[in-house]
Amino acid sequence: MAFLKKNIWLGFQLVAAIWLSLFLVATYLSYNNVYGDVENQLKSLTKTNANSIKAVLQKYEVALDLLSVEMAHYDYTITNTPITNLIDSIMTIDDSLLAIGIFDVNGAPLLSNSSTPLEEGFNLLKISFTRATFLHTLQVQEPVIGRTYFVQSLQKFVIPIRKAVRNENGEVVFVLTLALDMHKEFNFLSSNNEDIEIYDTYIFRDFDRFFMLAPVAKIYDKESYQVPISEKSVKQGLSALLSQLPFTLEEIKEKELVITHQSQTPQGYGLVASTYFKDYQLWLSTNVSLDTVKAIFFKKVLFLVTLFFTSLGIIFALFKKIADAEEKKQTALSFQATHDFLTNIHNRFFLKEQESHINQSTNPYVVFLINLDRFKSINEKFGHDIGDRVLCEISTRLTNYKSPNDILVRYGSDEFLIVSYSAAVANLNETCAALSKVIKQPFPWKDIQFEITTSVGISSYPQDGNSLNDIISNADLALHEAKKCRDSHVVYTNTLKEQLAFRLQVEQELKTALVNNELYMVYQPQIKYDGQLHGVEALIRWDNKSLGSIPPFKFIPIAESLGIMPSLGLFILRESIRQIVELCQKTHKNINLSVNISVSQFMQPDFYYHVKNALSEFGFSPSHLVLEITESMFIEDVQKIIRVIDKLKTLGVKISLDDFGTGYSSLSSLKELAIDELKIDKSFVDDIGFDEDARSMIKGILTISENLNIETVAEGIENIEQLALLKAMNCSIYQGYYFSKPLKIDALYSFLDNVQVH
Ligand code: C2E
Ligand code: MG
Ligand code: MG
Repeated sequence: MAFLKKNIWLGFQLVAAIWLSLFLVATYLSYNNVYGDVENQLKSLTKTNANSIKAVLQKYEVALDLLSVEMAHYDYTITNTPITNLIDSIMTIDDSLLAIGIFDVNGAPLLSNSSTPLEEGFNLLKISFTRATFLHTLQVQEPVIGRTYFVQSLQKFVIPIRKAVRNENGEVVFVLTLALDMHKEFNFLSSNNEDIEIYDTYIFRDFDRFFMLAPVAKIYDKESYQVPISEKSVKQGLSALLSQLPFTLEEIKEKELVITHQSQTPQGYGLVASTYFKDYQLWLSTNVSLDTVKAIFFKKVLFLVTLFFTSLGIIFALFKKIADAEEKKQTALSFQATHDFLTNIHNRFFLKEQESHINQSTNPYVVFLINLDRFKSINEKFGHDIGDRVLCEISTRLTNYKSPNDILVRYGSDEFLIVSYSAAVANLNETCAALSKVIKQPFPWKDIQFEITTSVGISSYPQDGNSLNDIISNADLALHEAKKCRDSHVVYTNTLKEQLAFRLQVEQELKTALVNNELYMVYQPQIKYDGQLHGVEALIRWDNKSLGSIPPFKFIPIAESLGIMPSLGLFILRESIRQIVELCQKTHKNINLSVNISVSQFMQPDFYYHVKNALSEFGFSPSHLVLEITESMFIEDVQKIIRVIDKLKTLGVKISLDDFGTGYSSLSSLKELAIDELKIDKSFVDDIGFDEDARSMIKGILTISENLNIETVAEGIENIEQLALLKAMNCSIYQGYYFSKPLKIDALYSFLDNVQVH
């Protein structure tokens, strides 16, 4: 069934072929049937005709016998006897009789019926067509049928029957002759009986091949009776007959069989039924042309043809119906396969289908990969129904926005992709602005009011790649960048790709950096107002064989995203405490240690224990440990951070807020946090000499610190001017290249030799 569905027209051809075979078999059987019927009819007609003709001839044989008996009665004397009256009375009984005559053995007439007086000098032996049969009559006992001839005076065809009358000694005394009206007597053979009109009956004489009764077309043609049938055609007919039948000619003649065979006939090639009258040496043949048989067959077969084509038409209609339904189903399936079930716009599969076509063409195009910002939160906040409505609405807007030739697909749950042939590479910023405006339009629903923004990654063919696949992955890269800021678009550049490649390599190498001992700590001194050492800030370094020295601002965010920052952070915490404890023990100095703590590390549930364990394991005084956290942390749950800080503080450690002034926390919220130290970001220190804003920021930070009674460390001091200004502002702790770059632990030992530690 599945095969049939797939190859529906093949199925139809199969059924049609079977149907055609059945039709041909039926046609063949029908022809045989018609042929058989015709043959049977021909046989029975021949038999009937033979019987009728025999009856006619016997009737006249009786008449002749009667006459001869009567003549014997009068001792074969015909003058002065009532023979003439007898003849005349016979004539009146049978109107098929044209004449009755009595001839002597020399062929001369002796007596005839009174209405047909015979001319003087008339002699049967002298007439060419009567002579042979007359002589033959003298030879035989049986009546002899003479040749059929046309009598001008009567305008009739005559068939004579003659019989020799013999005396007791067996000598021929007279010859009796009956002249039969061929038309009247044998009319039944050629009468227009509807059933038999297709058959043609004729009788010819075996010994001289003259027609007694010519075929219907020539029955009243005098010529037909004057020329014998050619010996050749009779011979051909007989040999055809004998070759088709299991009888000998003698058997056929002797038993007077009715036999049929195919042969050439006066009507053309046809079927012939023949029988032989041995008493009269006549062949009776009835034939029908094969064309007639075919005509009957065609009449019959017309029904079959009509039936065949009608049923084939019905079968075709049925198959067409199935094919149509199948096509409809296929169309629906292909629509389903290539369209997104929710929005009804094309889906990713459709794009895959178009890919080879797009790649073959050289037409330039731009791919816009559009991602809805914070769609997840819309789903969470308003429910999935509203989320679905948003997606449908955005699809409609994008459909209306794109040019007719552009391809729009729903590429992911909240991601759409446009392959645009109309966007100009020079105007991508304008195009994106228009696109984001379309999407930002308020939604037309009274109950829900919100605005949605998008991040768009853009890449163009042929500038950015050779295939659609390349262009899409480039657009994806660009989208990734755009996603970092949201509500923005990024056009792909090669630098972006290089960055990604670098990032991928960094990711790869970073995973094994710890176990490969590629990571180590450096320490940057922090100097107090009086020049004494306040402490050191531990900073991580990574030297990789293939990548070289990678700065922490590059690899720390990657470590965060890879999820390995907590383990890396634990190493940093433990390694720096271990080294500084060792340094303190060796130098007998107490040094403050600031350790940078990443967001994920800080939020880890067991971070508290990590700190506690490290302190106790290495025997470091908690009051000398400063944990540096950044402002960026405060985009997380502030209350939770406050709780973590409070808990950590129970250990006796200090908390420092790094890069202060660059991030999210407002100065006022500082009160809530149990912070011990603020670190003025390097960017303010950089500008302190020439930027009034930077100066006021630093002043503000210092005022707050003073009010809150917390320490302030100024970072990134590179020259004496910056130091002087900071000192003038009463900033008391300094860190920067001016004093020292971050130092490896060995270098820190040397550094400590030159500074005082209180
Ligand atoms: P940060 O915590 O603010 O560290 C200070 C950064 O300023 C260090 O860069 C330091 O080398 C640099 N610096 C200090 N004085 C000067 C100066 O006078 N001039 C210049 N140009 N730079 C100066 P570094 O080591 O590259 O670290 C960058 C950032 O990476 C750090 O900023 C910190 O946020 C992060 N980081 C470094 N090490 C670690 C670590 O062990 N753990 C964590 N979580 N983050 C770390
Ligand atoms: Mg720091
Ligand atoms: Mg800093």
